[in-house]
Amino acid sequence: MGNYFSNISAGIGTALVGMRITFEHLFSKKVTRQYPDTFHPIRDGHMPKFARNRLYVDMELCIGCMICQRNCPVNCIDIKTIKAVKGDPEAFKKSGDKVTLWVEKFDIDFAKCMFCNLCTEECPTDAIYMTQEFEYTKYNRNELIYSFSVMTDDQIAAKTKLLEDEKAEKAAVAAKAAAEKAAAEKAAAETESGEAKS
Ligand code: SF4
Ligand code: SF4
Repeated sequence: MGNYFSNISAGIGTALVGMRITFEHLFSKKVTRQYPDTFHPIRDGHMPKFARNRLYVDMELCIGCMICQRNCPVNCIDIKTIKAVKGDPEAFKKSGDKVTLWVEKFDIDFAKCMFCNLCTEECPTDAIYMTQEFEYTKYNRNELIYSFSVMTDDQIAAKTKLLEDEKAEKAAVAAKAAAEKAAAEKAAAETESGEAKS
């Protein structure tokens, strides 16, 4: 019963607050802002702290783990990586951290993005985050695909070749080991059959 009356009282209080605000605006000075020539004060550098706007990816921090891509419910993040080979002297970030995956492609299609923020929440390095930027309309949808990878075509080709060479080398080592094992097994079988005859 106590709840019943407190709910009624809260409802009346809320309605009165709303009416007070409406009443104040009836007599306040009217202002028309000539957007986009003048902005609302909130736009002049200070969006609310947790506002969801355009994303940005700091490629110096990104490790290519693809967690953000897997988390995106509308598949608007497209990442491609190349495994860094062992002993690549360039496989270090400016910070000195080792590179294990080269991020050859990191595209976000903002025509599809619904600003749910799921990509930023699980990023282990905080490489992807929301910016203050919300005005980026385009006439062409393709211009809403933002590419964040900083790798050049030459770098991508070079890293791809290094990886292919490493794979070929590993395959050759494995084939040699298999051939040696087969030869040893054959020799052992021949010795065994020779002993059996004698
Ligand atoms: S932005 Fe973060 S979650 Fe996405 S690939 Fe880079 S490190 Fe991983
Ligand atoms: S905010 Fe949501 S929809 Fe947009 S890229 Fe991130 S996970 Fe995908």
